[in-house]
Amino acid sequence: MKYLLLLAVLVVAYLLWRNARIARDTPPPAERDQAALPQEMVRCAHCGLHLPREDSVTGGNGLPYCSQEHRLLSGG
Ligand SMILES: [Zn+2]
Repeated sequence: MKYLLLLAVLVVAYLLWRNARIARDTPPPAERDQAALPQEMVRCAHCGLHLPREDSVTGGNGLPYCSQEHRLLSGG
């Protein structure tokens, strides 16, 4: 009976250790949500290439371009 109690303690300790490890390996929900957020895509007004807004170049006319070259070619 003494060994049964010892076994139960070991099982509980193992489960607690495993839960703690899973909690540590899993990023907090806030971080995961941020990573999963879709990036806003824009279309180059010159060649039609789709790219993230943060990588685009906005011309003087307010239109997005994939590069400075295309902005200049389109006169933006
Ligand atoms: Zn382009």
